[in-house]
Amino acid sequence: MIRDGFGRSFQTLRISLLDRCNFACTYCVDEDVRLSRKNSFLEVDEWIRIVHELHSLLHLKKVRLTGGEPTLYPHLKILVRELKNLGIPQISLTTNGSILSKQASDLKNAGLDSINVSLDAMTSESFQTMSRRSAFKQTLKGIDAAVDSGLKVRINCTLVRGKNEDQIIPILEYSWNKGILPRFLELMKMGYLQNSDTIPIFSQKEILDRVEEHYGTLTPQTRKLSSTANYWNTENGNSFGIIANESAPFCSDCDRLRLDSKGSLYGCLSSSTGFPLPKLREQGIDMEQILILALRQKQDVRFKGSDLTMMAIGG
Ligand code: SAM
Ligand code: SF4
Repeated sequence: MIRDGFGRSFQTLRISLLDRCNFACTYCVDEDVRLSRKNSFLEVDEWIRIVHELHSLLHLKKVRLTGGEPTLYPHLKILVRELKNLGIPQISLTTNGSILSKQASDLKNAGLDSINVSLDAMTSESFQTMSRRSAFKQTLKGIDAAVDSGLKVRINCTLVRGKNEDQIIPILEYSWNKGILPRFLELMKMGYLQNSDTIPIFSQKEILDRVEEHYGTLTPQTRKLSSTANYWNTENGNSFGIIANESAPFCSDCDRLRLDSKGSLYGCLSSSTGFPLPKLREQGIDMEQILILALRQKQDVRFKGSDLTMMAIGG
């Protein structure tokens, strides 16, 4: 097993299938970029070759497909099936859910195990403010289809102070009513936010205070190794999570490895330089050496920001 000085290895792979999206969330990109017709992406065969090589060295436990918006990848169902055939125990997807209603059951049948749907608001007005799109109803339809198809579903809600903290309780109520686990994300200094002195984070403590005000005493769950989220139980037996990059950094036992949509490998979200695997393979460079270099990219304690957008490197 390839490990760094902190004992960290790579067991989870995140693949950003496309660096394009049909949304333009205000915290992800600074302007309303429209989806262009010309999308460049790697073909399924290329992804499978890369993941097969990584899996044989790392014995991956989980692959998460993300983006950009991964449901726009034209061969998603085939890719999921082929990844499952490689023997990877868990295949997951992170999506904005807007076109999921048409795909959920096919993806489940292809072998997808679980899905995280990003949902930042429970009113169409607030949804539009966050995403710059009016796809609220389609997104809810996508979530319903995912639940109905038997996929394990989680909701991820990114909070921006002054914009959607009033959605915390509605998101909890909606998720719990559907038997879904909700999670809140503290804002991170990615992309255009990197150079701001302060960013409008709504902190873990503030989230907890708000939930406690509403539902009474909260009990923390024991954190699972390499988990990005911490979880709490309410008095009436519901649970929720917080991914708190600022308040409760999770770099010290991170096991994540990332591939961007061109097949460049990153050992850390904060690194803006990847290892371009298709090119390095042509040059005959050994994957084990690349993985050792990628491990050196990891931060010791906390993520400090990156000029890459989440849309490019994959959240
Ligand atoms: N388009 C898909 C989606 O939105 O779920 C997948 C990619 S998106 C980059 C993955 C996650 O990253 C989303 O939940 C999004 O809210 C989150 N995200 C994007 N920019 C962020 C930022 N600056 N800070 C924290 N989370 C961010
Ligand atoms: Fe698209 Fe996801 Fe970024 Fe929103 S967060 S713009 S849905 S990639």
